[in-house]
Amino acid sequence: MSELVSLTRQGEIGVITINNPPVNALSPGVPEGLVASIDAAEKDPEIKAIVVIGGGRTFIAGADIREFGKIVAGERPRLSLNPSLNRIEDCTKPVVMAIHGTAFGGGLETAMAGHYRVAVASAQVGQPEVKLGIIPGAGGTQRLPRLAGVGKAVDMCAFGEPIDAKAALAAGIIDKIIDGDLLTGAVEFAKNVAGKLAFKTRERNEKLQDAAGNTAIFALAREQARKTRRGQLAPLAAIDAVEAATRLSFDDGINREAEIFRVCLYSTQSKSLIHAFFGERTVAKIPDIPKETKLYDIKRAAIIGAGTMGGGIAMNYANAGIPVIIKETEQAALDRGMATIRKNYENSVKKGRFSQAVMDQRMALITPQLTYDGFDQADIIVEAVFEGMALKKQIFAEIDKIAKPTCILASNTSTLDIDEIASATQRPHMVIGHHFFSPANVMKLLEIVRGKATSKEVIATSMNLAKTLKKVGVLAGNCRGFIGNRMIHCYGREAVFLVEEGAAPEQVDGAIYEFGLAMGPLAMGDLAGLDVGWRIRKEFKHLEKPGVRTAKMADALAELGRYGQKTGKGWYLYDANRNPKPDPEVTALIEKVSKENGIQRHAISHEEIIERTIYALVNEGARILEEGIALRAVDIDIVYLNGYGFPAWRGGPMFYADTVGLPHVLAKIEEFEKKHGSDLWAPAPLLKKLAEAGKTFESWDKEKEAAAGA
Ligand code: NAD
Repeated sequence: MSELVSLTRQGEIGVITINNPPVNALSPGVPEGLVASIDAAEKDPEIKAIVVIGGGRTFIAGADIREFGKIVAGERPRLSLNPSLNRIEDCTKPVVMAIHGTAFGGGLETAMAGHYRVAVASAQVGQPEVKLGIIPGAGGTQRLPRLAGVGKAVDMCAFGEPIDAKAALAAGIIDKIIDGDLLTGAVEFAKNVAGKLAFKTRERNEKLQDAAGNTAIFALAREQARKTRRGQLAPLAAIDAVEAATRLSFDDGINREAEIFRVCLYSTQSKSLIHAFFGERTVAKIPDIPKETKLYDIKRAAIIGAGTMGGGIAMNYANAGIPVIIKETEQAALDRGMATIRKNYENSVKKGRFSQAVMDQRMALITPQLTYDGFDQADIIVEAVFEGMALKKQIFAEIDKIAKPTCILASNTSTLDIDEIASATQRPHMVIGHHFFSPANVMKLLEIVRGKATSKEVIATSMNLAKTLKKVGVLAGNCRGFIGNRMIHCYGREAVFLVEEGAAPEQVDGAIYEFGLAMGPLAMGDLAGLDVGWRIRKEFKHLEKPGVRTAKMADALAELGRYGQKTGKGWYLYDANRNPKPDPEVTALIEKVSKENGIQRHAISHEEIIERTIYALVNEGARILEEGIALRAVDIDIVYLNGYGFPAWRGGPMFYADTVGLPHVLAKIEEFEKKHGSDLWAPAPLLKKLAEAGKTFESWDKEKEAAAGA
């Protein structure tokens, strides 16, 4: 028996315990250990039934995800789990799987190979493989419909959401919920079934039968997957695999599942999703900030400005149980801000996300006021007033006088220089950017902007606070627009240029939507307000280089008061329900602007739209990387996945460029440079270097990490 799996005996019950901390992942050695233990228990005449349980905090939480990457890279052969699971299922003594914590993916597949399953009430089971672009690969799509029925199996395998023990009991996935100690309850259960005929899951066909019902289930699931998992292959593949269970014998179904699994495992989508999965963990690591850096305690917060962002930020603190003061200049603005917060919470209660009591608790944590009363008690003050340097500096000078010395002073600015803001205080080491994304109570990204004087403690506390607020914190250096907005500027510029050169707004937005983003760039402009960019462009007008093309159409719309959704018209015309419609007035305006600027309009291909916009992101991203504004390429990807609706199955802009191939991206950028000029399209030196060396952004990250560790 291996150290990972042990067999002991409690009277006539053999107890097999899996000990592969922290989560009993199915790493090499675990399936072999399970089989050896089953063999030994079967041979032992004293043992009448067997319990399999996880040591520590969980049953088998799932496969070891790093193994997938190694298999695809050819470092390891893929060893199928199926023979081991069949061996468990063929055991002549009843096997009771005892579940606590989570039985996800391979964990649930292992559990289903037992003859019975019991679980504590807090346990969860699921087949979340689709979230990594794959499908269950060890019989999950074949055994689950046999236990839970086709509808439930399709739901769990195609959409990946876990269910709790109660729902699993109702579905027939588990046989009993154990109150009290799991092992004691499982051993009791095993004693009751000892000596009885044990049913093999693979032979239970009664829930597979209804052909007409099944056809309807698959059709509906495919429609739902196309809608809610737009562009993704794995959900549809999972449905195909469950469908195979209803049409083929178990063994043929397992072979079909294996074929589909292999296609998914080697897909670019799966590589991208696995990159995104690990990326979220990687961004928490900051090379020059050791783990043991002292953290400030954040028990009280205060916010300045109850507008679009201030209100959402206050909700984040209240949701985390941190009392928060919110200050405005006028009662009317304060009332408006509080009314929006209340409405957002009411919507959540209506949708059943939490109870009225929870809403009341959260509202009670938010104190609206017009003064700085209580700001001297705050551990963090977040400024979210209008975007203007003079105003921000005035506010920081004011709070510097009131705040206690250990109070973090954060600005939610989206573009302005954090060092200049900090210069208005006597404590620039306590000043940092906390750039939330709109709507701040929903979007997961928190860009944390490090000024030149920001202390390590303030950065470490901010990264930790991001987690408390249920955000993904990404550290950025200080430059105009930081990581996300500096790049989006280039992307938005190209979108407008494409319109000026001949594409219709809906064509540009349509191409980007089809590429997988939540929304096209022009529709996004209408949502955010075209006046915002217009004001920023005016503020930075003095930095424009003479002779370099600017996005004329964006200004032309704003000058007409077409600010987007808020004025009912922008790039599109909006009805009362904010549904967009192309507007002939905009078409005429585009033609006029093109003509006035001597731009020859022509047909624009879908491909050009994607390449001009996405490669503009990549090129600027490469500069950001080289300048050290982003620590790693993956940090840029995580910013785009969590703050800009970039599809996770494309991995983020930098990883996407890797998958396309950097030499191709570079060749296109060089072509655009010839056509549109070096000011806009000179290739970033890092991109050029990597492409010419046959490397990728991912390999660059790895080399940097290795160098830092050396
Ligand atoms: P907003 O206009 O909705 O809100 C700003 C609020 O600040 C207004 O209610 C105003 O009354 C209040 N205010 C102004 N001066 C004040 C003072 N001295 N004391 C107290 N309150 C004061 O603006 P917003 O969209 O919430 O933007 C706020 C900040 O967040 C800006 O720096 C902006 O760049 C940044 N930001 C905005 C977004 C976005 O999508 N809207 C996203 C990220 C960051």
